[in-house]
Parts: sequence; C-alpha cells; structure tokens
Amino acid sequence: MRYIEPHGHMVSRTTDDYQAMVTAGCVAVCEPAFWAGYDRKNKHGFFDYFLQLTEYEPRRANKYLLPHFCWLCINPKESEDTVLADEVISLIPDLLAKPNVLGIGEIGLNKNSRNELLILEKHIQLAADHNQLVLVHTPHLEDKLKGTRLILDALRNHSRITPDRVIIDHVEEHTAPLVLDAGFWAGITLYPESKATPNRAIDMMELYGSERLWLNSACDWGHSDPLAVPKTALEMRRRGYSAAAIDNLLYQNPLRFLSQNPRFKTADSLSP
Ligand SMILES: [Zn+2]
Repeated sequence: MRYIEPHGHMVSRTTDDYQAMVTAGCVAVCEPAFWAGYDRKNKHGFFDYFLQLTEYEPRRANKYLLPHFCWLCINPKESEDTVLADEVISLIPDLLAKPNVLGIGEIGLNKNSRNELLILEKHIQLAADHNQLVLVHTPHLEDKLKGTRLILDALRNHSRITPDRVIIDHVEEHTAPLVLDAGFWAGITLYPESKATPNRAIDMMELYGSERLWLNSACDWGHSDPLAVPKTALEMRRRGYSAAAIDNLLYQNPLRFLSQNPRFKTADSLSP
C-alpha cells in the first residue's frame, strides 16, 4: 500500500520511525509547527525551530527517500504572549519561500482565550495576504466544540479565505459535521488514548462521507503512533473495504488537498 502522513511532528521522532513509516508505504510526510513540550523563551527559539523544519528535517527524511513538507506558525498554546506571537509571525513571510513550506499551521485555539483568538485572526490574515493553505488545530476534550465554532466563525469572517483551502484537524464525532457542512476539509487524528481510534475514524467516515477527509497520526514527543495510518488500513481491510477505497482515503484525499500547493510531491510521483 501507499499512504501520505499529513500530520507528523517528525523532529520528535527517531530514525527507526522514518524507516518503519517508509517500509509501511509512506510516500510523503507533512509537519505542522507546534508546541515543543515547553514554552520557547523568545523569537530566536522559533527561528531555529523554523530552520529545523525547513532545512534540517527534510534532509533527514531524504535519507529514507521520503519527501518532507512543513507548515509554519506560532502554536495556540504559546500565543497567549501576544508580543512574542507578533514577533514570531513577523518571521514567517520570508520563510514562505523555502521549498518545503505548504502553508500556515497548525494555527487554532487551545483554551479558547481572547489572546489566542486574536493571534488566530492574525494568522488567518497572514494566510490571506500570502495566498497560503491553512491547517487548523482544534482544542482538546471539553473545549473542542466551542473552539471549533469560534475557529469556523473566524475563518468565515475572512472574505479571502475559501473553505476548500483549509483543513480543520483533530475533528471528532461532535465536530466533524460542523466542519464538513461548512465546506472545509476535516482531519481525524488517530491516537492510542485520546482523539480517535481506527474504528472510530472509519465509523465517522461511514457517517459523514470520505470526500473531504484525511487521517493522520499526529505523532509527536508524547504517547502516539507513527504507524497509526497504515494500521487503520488494516482495520479497513477487516471491514471489507477494497484496496481502491483504502488508497482513496489514505493517499488520494491528502494528495488532492495538499496538491493545491504545487510544491507538494510524493515519493512515488518522483521515482522514475
Ligand atoms: Zn500537531
């Protein structure tokens, strides 16, 4: 099989993970900018992280013949400091020229605070000004429904943002219909404990349709599984899905969304 990992925090993963993903059929990996597990002290910490995402990590992935792409932003958790957030956002326009940058993300909300919302709106403006794709993180657990509503309103308030160029990630049963009915793409995250399991993800696909849906592992420094996407393919096979249906969800769908940025390429499209 072949699949795309559209959301993996590879700077936190080992080379064994790269090897396992490629062996399982991964043909491209995309890495949104996010929280490092600790708060960075100043804009220089972010600048170094952005260089890691745009220079070092693609070289590391290339050792496994895996194309690596990234998204840039200051994550919602660190957006509470609006002075720092403004400084970090001002770094981004120059870095959009780096050849593996796909857009602005993962922006969004964490605790749905006023400052987070302010910085979310600035990121949306940045994406509109530079005609960038957008990847959005939605809050956890009890904050998710309210946060998703706030995020959708902020996106809809912007006339130059079209929903087919925005993916709202970490949807669950109670937020997927809101996102899809509004014309946005939806991402389901497969986590060993929270978020969704393979079975819940397939149930959601059966309920809401697979047209604008992608699955990801969001593997990072916490308890997560970089092979969650191909393991879901196994679960789909158990339920009787054809190889074509699996390819459609795990390869064609992310390819269709991500190819809106012409930089995006997969290993199978590059090989002779
Ligand atoms: Zn993430």
